[in-house]
Amino acid sequence: MNSSPANFVQRFLPLRLPRVCVAVIASDPAQLLDKAEGLVRDNPFLEFRLDYLPKPGLALPRIRSFFEMFPHAVVIATCRRATSGGKFRGSVASQLELLSKAAAAGCQLVDVELQTALKCKGEQLQKLRSRAALILSFHDFHGTKKLPETLEKMRNYPADFYKVVSTATTLTDNVTMMKFLEKESDRHSLVGLCMGEQGIISRVLGVRAGSAFTFASVSEEERTAPGQVTAQDLRSVYRIEQVDVATRVYGVAGDPIAHSLSPIIMNTALRRENVNAVYLALHAKALKDLLTCVREIPIHGLSITMPYKEAILKYLDNTDSHTTKIGACNTIVRAQDGKLYGFNTDTAGVVRPLEQRIPLEGARILVLGAGGAARAAVFGLKERGCEVFILNRTPAPAQKLARQAKARTIKRQDLRKLAFDVIVNATPVGMSNSGESPLHENEINAKYVFDMVYDPPETRFLKAAKARGAQIIPGIEMFVHQAARQFEIWTGKPAPWDDMLRVVTIALQERVAKAAKK
Ligand code: NAP
Repeated sequence: MNSSPANFVQRFLPLRLPRVCVAVIASDPAQLLDKAEGLVRDNPFLEFRLDYLPKPGLALPRIRSFFEMFPHAVVIATCRRATSGGKFRGSVASQLELLSKAAAAGCQLVDVELQTALKCKGEQLQKLRSRAALILSFHDFHGTKKLPETLEKMRNYPADFYKVVSTATTLTDNVTMMKFLEKESDRHSLVGLCMGEQGIISRVLGVRAGSAFTFASVSEEERTAPGQVTAQDLRSVYRIEQVDVATRVYGVAGDPIAHSLSPIIMNTALRRENVNAVYLALHAKALKDLLTCVREIPIHGLSITMPYKEAILKYLDNTDSHTTKIGACNTIVRAQDGKLYGFNTDTAGVVRPLEQRIPLEGARILVLGAGGAARAAVFGLKERGCEVFILNRTPAPAQKLARQAKARTIKRQDLRKLAFDVIVNATPVGMSNSGESPLHENEINAKYVFDMVYDPPETRFLKAAKARGAQIIPGIEMFVHQAARQFEIWTGKPAPWDDMLRVVTIALQERVAKAAKK
C-alpha cells in the first residue's frame, strides 16, 4: 500500500475490512438503495455499481441518505467504463466527477481502472484519493498472465488497494493468482481473484493467500462478473470467514461440473462435523491441469466424476484391490507425502441402502448397464454373496463384466420369465426428465427397484416400479451414501447422514421447482 501523504485507509476505513464485498446492481437509484438497505445488516461491505444505472448521478442524494441511516456501512463506488468491461459510456472526466461526488455522499472507497488512470493527470487521481480510499483496478477478461508486470504498471499510480482480476481458463490459473498474492501482498494491499467458472479456487482461497477481500454477488442472476459466487454461498457453503492457513481443501472434479450437488452435501457435512476444510467444484478440462492443483494448492482429497473415473487411475500411486477390479475411481486421498490413493465409494452407495433393507447373502439382483457404476455395483454385490445378473444395451461389456465378476448375463426377452429381489438401474436412462425408463412396466418383476439416476428424484422407472407394487430406492440414497463414505475416508469421522440427505433433497426440490418455472 502506498501511504503518502496521509494514511487514507486509516482515515476512511475500519481497521479490518470484512472479507466479502457484495456487488449491488440495479436499473434505477431507488432499487439500488432499497437493495442495499436489505443487504447491509448481514453485509456491511457493499459495492455500488453506479455504471449499471442509466443516470448514475441521480443516485447521489439517495446514497447520502443511506449513510445517514447506516453510518457503519462501508461502500465502494464503482462506475466502470464500457471500454474497461463496465457499462458507463461517459467520458473519463465525468467518471471521475461522479466518483468524487459519490465519495462526498459517503462512499469510503472508489474504484478506478488502470485504463482510466492512464488517461488522466496524476493530480486528478490524487484529488479523488484525498476524498476516499482509492482502489486501482485492472481486469483481464481473457486469461491470467503477466500479473507482476501489471502490478508494476499500476504502481505508477499511488493507491490504497491494487485490484488485479484475471480470467481462469485452467484450474492452474488459480495457482498463478494465489502465488502472486502470496508474494506481493506483504508489500501492497492487494485484491486478487480469477473470474470464470474455473476461478472458484481463487474466489474462496484468495483471502488466505493475501487478497484484502473478495467480491460476491447478491444472487446468481445479479452477477457482475463471470463465475462470481453469491455472498450467501461464500459464507454459508464455503465458510469464507473461517478459511485460514490450516483449512484443508477438497473438491469434486469433472467436466462439466456446474450442476454438481457435491459441494452442497460435502460442505454441509464438513461444517456439521466442525472439520476445518472446504470443498469446491473444480471444472477440470484436462487431468494434468487438475493434478497440478492437487500438488500446488495442495488439494487433500477429490471426488472424481464423469468423464475421469477411469482415466484418473494411471495417475494414482496406489488403489485398493476393489477399485483396481472395478477399474474406476471416484475418490482420491492425497497423503502427507503427496502420494495419491484411489478408492471407489460407489460400491458403498449401492450396497449400504440395500443391506439396510434385505439380507444380501443369496439375494437375486439384476443390474442394468455395464459401465463404471454398474461395475461398482456388480463387484460390490458379488462380494456380499448376491447372485448377480447383468443386462446391458450392448452385450459385449456385459459379458466381459460377468466373466470378471463371476456374474451372469441375461437377455431382455427372458426378463418377463424372471423374478428378482432387486433391479438396479446403472444406466443414465431417465435422467433430466427425459421421461424414459430402462424397462417397461411389465418387465419389472422385483421386490425392490433401485434407480441410480437421482435427477429427477422420482424417475419414470421408479414410477413404473411403484405401479408394479415394488418398493423403490431413489438414486439420492446412493448419492448420499457414496458421499458419506468419502467423508469418512477423508476425515475419519462418521458422516452426518441425515443432514447430508436433507440438504441434497432440498437442493433437488429447488432444482425441480426452478425447472418447472421455465
Ligand atoms: P457409463 O460408464 O457411461 O455407463 C453407462 C451405461 O449405461 C453403459 O452400460 C451403457 O450401455 C448404458 N447406457 C447408456 N445409454 C443408454 C441407453 N440410452 N439405453 C440403454 N443403456 C444405455 O456411466 P456410469 O458412470 O456407469 O453411470 C451410469 C449412471 O449412474 C449415470 O446416470 C450416473 O449419473 C449414475 N450414477 C449415479 C450415482 C449416484 O450417486 N446416484 C453414482 C454413480 C453413477 P452401452 O454399453 O450399450 O453403451
